[in-house]
Formats: sequence, structure tokens, C-alpha cells
Amino acid sequence: MITQAIQNVTLTLIRGNIVDISADVIVNAANSALAGGGGVDGAIHRAAGPSVMQECHKFERCPTGSAVVTSAGQLKAQYIFHAVGPIYGHHADAAQLLASAYDTCLDLAEKYRVQSIAFPSLSTGAYGYPLNEAAPIALQTVIEHLTQEATTLRQVVFVLFDERTFQAYARALERLLPSS
Ligand code: ADP
Repeated sequence: MITQAIQNVTLTLIRGNIVDISADVIVNAANSALAGGGGVDGAIHRAAGPSVMQECHKFERCPTGSAVVTSAGQLKAQYIFHAVGPIYGHHADAAQLLASAYDTCLDLAEKYRVQSIAFPSLSTGAYGYPLNEAAPIALQTVIEHLTQEATTLRQVVFVLFDERTFQAYARALERLLPSS
């Protein structure tokens, strides 16, 4: 686990399964049809129970780079933010769309006045975004939000499923905010 303070907020990188994390908001890596899928989306819906998919069906779709909010079903959270990252190689402005997916979640966190939010690594699984490009975008977007805006957040956690992903985020964070 790696922890850094940014203003009054703790930014944590942890290796693990996002459904086991306690946070006000769990972010899902959804698809724009909000149709459910494998990866983190499948794990979140399995753990949250069917009520969350029923809520998702009320939305027609979610544009890439944006997010929608549902309750969290049986998860230990208040909300799930279903964020849609870009498919690498499919969207010309992938970097901008990836940053926008994170930014939308951070803005929603302020709107709902929550104190903690847990992100997975959006777009780096089935959507094929190279980890070494995605990790600095994810972290930079969070750091900019926390340093530029008044925030209700006290904790931002990246829950990284495997060692390779964790190490990519650790390297990117060390470059953005050197620890010594
Ligand atoms: P995308 O379609 O946005 O690429 P994926 O779910 O395929 O989404 O992958 C995104 C990241 O989530 C990958 O790094 C994958 O290893 C990771 N992941 C898969 N299951 C979980 C989980 N239960 N908790 C946290 N991260 C997960």
C-alpha cells in the first residue's frame, strides 16, 4: 500500500478487489450501454446484487468519458458511480476521455458531498488502454482536482487488482509526486 497526502486528502494505492473496500463511493468501469460485463463490472454487480442492474436499466446509456450514479445494493458504500472509459484504439481523443471519466466521478463526489471514493483502473482491462499511459492520466486528474478545487473528499483510493497494475500506478505516482 502507498499513501500520499494532497492538501487534507489521503491518496492511497492498494492492491486488491474493489468489492472488499469500504468507501462512500465505489467506481465501476462500465460500458456505455450499462449492460454489465466481465472484469470489475461483473465483480461489482455480483457483489452488489440485482437491484443495481435494475437501476442501470433506467438509464438509456452513458456517454464515454462520463458516469452515472446508482445506489450500492449490498456493497459497503452509499453509491456506485458507473464510469465509462474509452476503448483504446477506437476513440481518437482517448486520453481526454479517460481524464474526463475520472473528472466526472470527482465532480459527482463533490455534488454528493462524500468523503471517500474508490476507483479501479478504468479502461486498462478489456478496453486495452496501456497501463503506463493510463496510470499517469488517472493520477494526474485526481491530483489536479484535489489541488485546484475545494473538496468534501478526505480519501481517494485506487484499488488495483494485480501486481502489474499496482506497480504501474506506483511508478506513475512517484513521478508525479516524488516521495522524498
Ligand atoms: P475496462 O473495460 O474499463 O478496461 P476491466 O474491468 O476489463 O475494465 O478492467 C479494468 C481494470 O480492473 C483492470 O486492471 C482489471 O484487472 C481490474 N479489475 C478486474 N476485477 C477487479 C476487481 N474486482 N477490483 C478491482 N479491479 C478489478
